[in-house]
Amino acid sequence: MTFEGRTAIVGAGIAGLGAARRIQQSGGTPVVFEAEDRVGGRIKTIRRDGFVFDVGAFIYLGSYAEATHEMRDVGLGPQMHKFDAFGAMPRGGELNFLDLSKPLSLLRTRYVSGRAKLKLAKLLFFLARHWKDLNYADASGVAAIDTDTVTSYSRRELGEELLDYVAAVVVRGPWLSDPSYASVGQLLWTLKNFFKPYFYGLDDGMDALPRAMAARLSDVRLATPVTNVTDAGDRVEVTFVESGRERTEEFANAVITTTTGAALRIYPQLSGFAREYYENTDYICSINCHIALSQRPSNPATYIMCSPREQPDLCGVIVDHLKAANRCPAGNGLLTTFCRHEWCLDNLDSPDDKVIDSVLAFIAPYYGDLSSQIVDYEIGRWRDVVPIMRQGRFRAVDRFMRETDPTARVQLAGDIGPIPGVNGALVSGQAAGDRVVDQLAATRSVVV
Ligand SMILES: Cc1cc2nc3c(=O)[nH]c(=O)nc-3n(C[C@H](O)[C@H](O)[C@H](O)COP(=O)(O)OP(=O)(O)OC[C@H]3O[C@@H](n4cnc5c(N)ncnc54)[C@H](O)[C@@H]3O)c2cc1C
Repeated sequence: MTFEGRTAIVGAGIAGLGAARRIQQSGGTPVVFEAEDRVGGRIKTIRRDGFVFDVGAFIYLGSYAEATHEMRDVGLGPQMHKFDAFGAMPRGGELNFLDLSKPLSLLRTRYVSGRAKLKLAKLLFFLARHWKDLNYADASGVAAIDTDTVTSYSRRELGEELLDYVAAVVVRGPWLSDPSYASVGQLLWTLKNFFKPYFYGLDDGMDALPRAMAARLSDVRLATPVTNVTDAGDRVEVTFVESGRERTEEFANAVITTTTGAALRIYPQLSGFAREYYENTDYICSINCHIALSQRPSNPATYIMCSPREQPDLCGVIVDHLKAANRCPAGNGLLTTFCRHEWCLDNLDSPDDKVIDSVLAFIAPYYGDLSSQIVDYEIGRWRDVVPIMRQGRFRAVDRFMRETDPTARVQLAGDIGPIPGVNGALVSGQAAGDRVVDQLAATRSVVV
């Protein structure tokens, strides 16, 4: 089989599918290899008895322009719905409800003191100054301010109250990360997202997007793990296991979209700063519990995010029956809990009942004792959730992006760019796909 014009895509997560779609739309021939028997990677949905458990990525944020564009492009428009991010944050055991769509109402909240509210203006000013630096294409602006952790920045500029009840909450909630090592750049990125205070729910579950993207591709090979990628100079050799047999095929180029550990194993030629960057990437761990209930709790918040002063181990709760349609039968409830990275590492192998008992105790102050209402559950145990955005990571991201060779036959993509998550991974995959399209176009013009 001729390799001309064919591109191997390793991984059918959102990055790999995004790369493949760009290449196919430009007339190329992507062949997607996926180790598992499903597409989506860290976007994973399990359906059972009317409950839809999003055990991988939980939400599509309102700020995810590329992901929502892709949803419409693959025909999911009719099942996209906007849901308000109506949050609650505990202080002194009491929940404070915060409607981010009404910023002025935040001035009235008793969640933080008047003094802290005044200091909050300083943080908002810092965000405004760097608003344009928080983009997926160029990390140089955010790299320039990557000299502080969230804790060091907050102690110096904001004080302990805003550190504990705002800054720490903002990096723990979405990222399960700790302010003592998270970069201040991650704080700003996350705050920027809060300015689009809604989520997009897909009626068929989070994985409806990768499934619809894959359905539009002509060659997606499931349960076909790649074991080696070799840049042979004028072509790329990809070795994979299909139906228990190892085979090698040749391609014009390849895009590797796996997590960094897997990429280092299958592509030993990876060199230069990219190798150092991949070797130094470590990931947040998550044990996320999805608890199906016989009754719908009356608490109206779409999500709860917790200060470490209130809940050392629980980062938050997402209320699935309010975050999207069709997540459970009418009258039933579905909650997702997520915990701090270090707690998850310690409990990664703990038995289900121990994990469920712990999280029920964490959320009891907000929902009461739910133990008698549980009708089903799923636990997502993920060693690699998203890269840890430690202080210094944004400078490394910037260098990695600047040193990416657009002519290299083997391209890298995934949630390895300026900010992790579904949209960052998609944008990274699309950009790698565009680089491949340029290579293929250059080859064609030489041949002509
Ligand atoms: C529990 C959890 C909650 C999250 N919540 C959110 C959220 O709410 N919002 C958000 O934006 N992001 C969230 N994320 C992060 C988001 O899911 C990821 O950043 C994003 O999906 C990464 O996509 P990717 O394509 O880069 O990688 P992946 O999805 O990991 O895709 C890589 C693919 O490569 C495959 N693969 C690996 N090795 C091989 C091999 N040798 N051969 C072939 N295939 C291989 C894998 O099976 C996988 O399918 C969450 C992640 C988790 C785990």
